Amino acid sequence: MLQNIENTLHQKSIKPTAMRLLVLDFLLKQQAAVSLNDLEAAFHRADRITLYRTLKTFEEKGLVHSIADGTGSVKYALCEEGCACAPEDLHVHFHCNICNETYCLPKSRIPEIALPENFKTEEISLIMKGTCASCS
Ligand SMILES: [Zn+2]
Ligand SMILES: [Zn+2]
Ligand SMILES: [Zn+2]
Repeated sequence: MLQNIENTLHQKSIKPTAMRLLVLDFLLKQQAAVSLNDLEAAFHRADRITLYRTLKTFEEKGLVHSIADGTGSVKYALCEEGCACAPEDLHVHFHCNICNETYCLPKSRIPEIALPENFKTEEISLIMKGTCASCS
């Protein structure tokens, strides 16, 4: 298992430090996206800056993507295999108003949206809000 995690980091050209291995292992076990606060709660012996930098490195290397779900804290979730974090790779996110969790919906791609002439997209985010399966 740890070997797999190390390979995943290698594939994304991320040097496998002990902290990165632990954070990736944690992310692999999550059903929902996690915030920096969630990570801090799970790794109370690690300092916030180190955890933040770990997430940022993962994001820069395309291992995770960030999600602004409207709750005010950015959440992070693992990218799917082959994701380049380009607009065409993006999927819809679902925020549950009851448990406050945010889920990736990788099977629900963001549809192509027509733009007026000379408008250029740099980011797209589509958040659906409602009640998740475990809360309904
Ligand atoms: Zn991605
Ligand atoms: Zn829920
Ligand atoms: Zn996602």
